[in-house]
Amino acid sequence: LPRIVVAGNGQLGQMLQQAGAPMQLEVMPVDPNGDIELGLRPDDVITVEIEHWSDSVSGLQLKQHPNFRNAEALYAVIDRQRQKALLDRLQVPTSPWVSLEAGDLQAQLESVGDKVIVKRRRGGYDGRGQWRWQQGDEPEAEWAGECIAEAMIPFSHEVSLVGARNAAGEKVFYPLTRNWHENGILRASVANLSVSAEQQKSAEEWLGRIMDDEGYIGVMAMECFVVDGKLLVNELAPRVHNSGHWTQEGSAISQFQLHLRALADLPLITPPVEGMSVMYNLLGRNWKPEWLQVPGVHVHWYGKEIRPGRKVGHVNICRPDAGSLIDSLKALQALVDDEDKVVFDWSIGQLQ
Ligand code: ATP
Ligand code: MG
Ligand code: MG
Repeated sequence: LPRIVVAGNGQLGQMLQQAGAPMQLEVMPVDPNGDIELGLRPDDVITVEIEHWSDSVSGLQLKQHPNFRNAEALYAVIDRQRQKALLDRLQVPTSPWVSLEAGDLQAQLESVGDKVIVKRRRGGYDGRGQWRWQQGDEPEAEWAGECIAEAMIPFSHEVSLVGARNAAGEKVFYPLTRNWHENGILRASVANLSVSAEQQKSAEEWLGRIMDDEGYIGVMAMECFVVDGKLLVNELAPRVHNSGHWTQEGSAISQFQLHLRALADLPLITPPVEGMSVMYNLLGRNWKPEWLQVPGVHVHWYGKEIRPGRKVGHVNICRPDAGSLIDSLKALQALVDDEDKVVFDWSIGQLQ
């Protein structure tokens, strides 16, 4: 098997490494911004867990390696303007948008709607690099050339699709996951709710079309808004994704293993999903040992320094059915910090 080298050494790289361990599949996360010789081998396969890095000594070795995967998809996705243009070209429905250019910003903003979200083209995540604008607000001159503007979508909820494609063009998907974001950051996901077959089918068809177009190999995630029961794509992530973390215990094949299977050209089969799961993000808070008393609880701690609002871990709660999952959620809710109890109210609400 090839060694998988991951550009980026945060939690996603760490979890890819954990997924490779049972098969002794070597996964080596590296800092792409370093100035060191990485000692890459010709048969290594290079993947990413982040989207931006510098042309450092290490960064260039990764990018220029003959087995650097998905350069085309990364090029298309790391800039929101190119990403939106890709969705339009492939006729994948997305919110109305414009690229903000020098000139009459007010008119450009108005052209997408009365309520608009302005997003920096590059480098934003967890809701950073975004501004809300509505009629009457003064546009910021520095948005021109740097940002896109898109219509604010009155969605009923948000879902995401995680899927994978291999070199032969075979594609597999998880069921749509329901997500709750607050201030642009994911608080929790619920998986294996019954979703309309039509939504699942459209989502798979669109993500499949995108991955095929880019000749993509590995896991890709697609975030969507649900409006009047129809899906509208918000954005793409060319990597394993936070809304797929529940698959670590909620499926016999996690998104991390699925990504490795695709990259190492191991058999790609539809990941079996039997019970139901909730993923609860730990944002700037520690976990507590007593949580482990609750059936179905699995703690994933990233070993990072705790800072306010920072993603430092997540907890998957996986049970065979909605009823037992609600029992576990209620038990865990009693043990978490007060500010996080709302996450459990939301999750339980989705399951009832
Ligand atoms: P991520 O960490 O997922 O990469 P991001 O910083 O790239 O996030 P987006 O996914 O674009 O940001 O937006 C974050 C959240 O803000 C969305 O999940 C959604 O809740 C809200 N949001 C973004 N765009 C819109 C929109 N056009 N209409 C309504 N809400 C939106
Ligand atoms: Mg994003
Ligand atoms: Mg997002």
